[in-house]
Amino acid sequence: MNSEPSNVVKFYNGEQIPLELHKVRVVQKLHLVPVERRLEAAREAGFNTFQLSTNDVYLDMLTDSGVNAMSDNQIAAMFRADDAYAGSQSFDRLKQAVRDVFGKEYLLPAHQGRACENIIARTFVKPGDVVPMNYHFTTTHAHIDLNGGKIEELVADEAVNPISTNPFKGNLDPAKLRDCIARHGADKIPFVRMEASTNLIGGQPFSIANMREIRGICDEFGIMLVLDASLIGENAYFIKMREDEFKDSSCADILKTMCGLADLVYFSARKVSSSRGGGICTNDRSIAKKMEHLVPLFEGFLTYGGISVREIEAMAVGLYETTDLTVISQSPSFIEYFIGQMVDMGIPCVTPAGGLGAHIDAGRFLPHIPQEDYPAGALAAAF
Ligand SMILES: *Cc1c(COP(=O)(O)O)cnc(C)c1O
Repeated sequence: MNSEPSNVVKFYNGEQIPLELHKVRVVQKLHLVPVERRLEAAREAGFNTFQLSTNDVYLDMLTDSGVNAMSDNQIAAMFRADDAYAGSQSFDRLKQAVRDVFGKEYLLPAHQGRACENIIARTFVKPGDVVPMNYHFTTTHAHIDLNGGKIEELVADEAVNPISTNPFKGNLDPAKLRDCIARHGADKIPFVRMEASTNLIGGQPFSIANMREIRGICDEFGIMLVLDASLIGENAYFIKMREDEFKDSSCADILKTMCGLADLVYFSARKVSSSRGGGICTNDRSIAKKMEHLVPLFEGFLTYGGISVREIEAMAVGLYETTDLTVISQSPSFIEYFIGQMVDMGIPCVTPAGGLGAHIDAGRFLPHIPQEDYPAGALAAAF
C-alpha cells in the first residue's frame, strides 16, 4: 500500500475503517415484506434475481449500472441544461469535460456503453477478425461476434484464480498478445482492447506499466489500442494505491495518462459518471470521421446522441468528479474493508479486493452445488 485513501480513519490500535464522505439529503422509502412473501417471490422468479420486482426486495444490489445516486452538483447542473437539437451549450460543456478529464478532442455521444461498442465494432471489425483483450464484457463480446469477429482473452493465467496477491490481475499479458499477433497476423487485428477494472473478473485493475507495454506492442505492429473506460475511476484509484510510480500523482493525471495511451476511449456514463449515456472519444480526427455517420443513424444527432440534455449536464459534472480521490476512493475502500472482514470469518472471497463489489467465491462457498447448477445464482437466491 502506498498513501492512504482520504476517507479511511486510523485508530490508535492500528485498525483502519473507511467512512462515507458524503451525506444523503434525499430519501426513498424501501419495502421490507415478510420473509414468507420474499421466499414466494424468489420461487415465482424461478430463483432468478433478474425476474424479481423491487417491491419484494429490501436492498437491491443487482448492479451499480445507472442506479447510483447523483451528486448535488450533478442535480444542480441538470437545471441549466440547454435544450437544442443542434448547437446545445450542454454538449459544449460535455466536450470540455472530455477534453479536461480524458484529454481527448473529439467526442461522439451515444445513449450508453454498448451503443458505443456497436459503433466501434461496425466500423472496425470485419468477418474473420480477432480482437485481443484483457477480458471480455458481455456486450463487447456480442458486438464483435455480430460483426463476424472473435475475441481472445489474454489476461495472465493467474487472473482467473480467485485467491491471489497480484495487485494487477486485470493486466493484459504481453507475451500472449505477441503470440496472438503471430498466430493471426496484425492485419486480422483491428484493435487491441483494454478494459479498465475488468468487470467480469470482479473489477480487477491493470497497471500503467502494463498499458505502456501493450501500447509499445501495438505501435510495433501498427494496431489501434482501444480503452473501455466505463470503470476507469476505480482502476485509477488502484494505480494510485498500488503502483509506486503514481503514489504521489493526482487522479486527474492518472486518468489522463491512461487515456493518453489509447487511440480511442469509450465509456458508459451509467458507471463512470453515475448518470446515463456514453461516449467515444479520440484525438485522431480520421478515426472519429470513420464512425461519425453512424451516430445519427443509431443514436441521435451528433450533439446529443440519444441522451437528454439534462443527463448530458450530469455526465459532464460526473466526469470531473471522477478526478476527485475522495469520490473514487469510497467504493474500493469499503470493498477492501468488507473483504477483509469476510476473509477473517472464513468466507471464501476473490482477492485482492476489486473495485466493483465484494465477490464471494460461490463455488467454494457452496461446494455441494456443481458449476452447471449456478452456485453464484443459488447463493444470491438464498440471500
Ligand atoms: C457496463 C459496461 C459496458 C456497457 O455499458 P452499458 O451502459 O451498460 O451499455 C461496457 N463495458 C464495461 C466495462 C461495462 O462495465
